[in-house]
Amino acid sequence: MVLNLFIVRIPIIWPPKQVNAYIVKGVNESLIIDAGPDLFLSKVVLQRDLERIKVDFKRSVFLMTHSHIDHSGLIERCAGGSKVYVGYKEVESLFKDEKEEIKNVVAFAVENGFPEHTAALITRFMFRRHPKKYLEPIPLRDGDVIEVGDYKFRCIETPGHTRGHICLYDQERRMLVSGDHILSNITPNISSWSYEEDLLSTYLFSLKRTYEINAHLILPGHGRPFIGLRRRVLELIDHYRSRLLEILNVIGYRSCDAYWITSKMKWNMKSSFWDHMLGVQEWLAFGETLACLNFLVKLRVIERRTLRGRALYNITDVDAIEVLNDYFSRLYKTLTS
Ligand SMILES: [Zn+2]
Repeated sequence: MVLNLFIVRIPIIWPPKQVNAYIVKGVNESLIIDAGPDLFLSKVVLQRDLERIKVDFKRSVFLMTHSHIDHSGLIERCAGGSKVYVGYKEVESLFKDEKEEIKNVVAFAVENGFPEHTAALITRFMFRRHPKKYLEPIPLRDGDVIEVGDYKFRCIETPGHTRGHICLYDQERRMLVSGDHILSNITPNISSWSYEEDLLSTYLFSLKRTYEINAHLILPGHGRPFIGLRRRVLELIDHYRSRLLEILNVIGYRSCDAYWITSKMKWNMKSSFWDHMLGVQEWLAFGETLACLNFLVKLRVIERRTLRGRALYNITDVDAIEVLNDYFSRLYKTLTS
């Protein structure tokens, strides 16, 4: 058995500073899984490594685990005319009207207390989409199989980090290409940018499904490959449980907005002080808080009221912590049963 799978660690200019592309070398065609952003330096590094392993970008097929620009940018820009596999729920995100999306997200952020000027600047960067004249993505659904060389990958839908995120599982090697669904030493960002989306519940359900797969080797979208999927899934569930409890404690008896709540929480980012956070990190932290708040609203332990154009949150259930603990006890039971 020849292990024709390579990892290219591509530098990016924002945290976490690097993204992984995985190259599966086939006889006639190779598969490139995530290819980094559409940045000059990232492109140079990928091209250099492809030459080194003798893989031709133009004779490759592509797969993006999700549509965030650090994973999909180069594919969107350069892979037109080649096969590009994408989770079927992610296809819509790729072709969204950029202006409309930015307008809606900025309005949502401002209603939740984020400064308008910074929100406008960041969304223009984060929600930017490339022109995709020649891109015709091939949508993948759960259970679809892609074969390249010795490898047979099954698509596993893992929504949460994005609506249509997918992982790839090679059953024979018990190897999971996990994109940003599961990372080794950082938590994947789970953000909500509308009131309708409860991506945290969705993500927890995806974690439960991944736990059942019980893969051995994990190839993540950032950081180094690692073993111990089940341990990591449990750590991530614990992390979100603590986060939700922290939010309930921060709200206490107050009625407050999401931006204020975010500023009172502990964040393990480059700078531990809120005032010194980079704008993008502040934005990501804010998005995480909103995902948690949507989750708690859906659980009916807090409520959201809009007052003079501002969304405020307060606790409605005196047993909120108990209700939350019950939710997670049930989740843990489904994992071990
Ligand atoms: Zn991502």
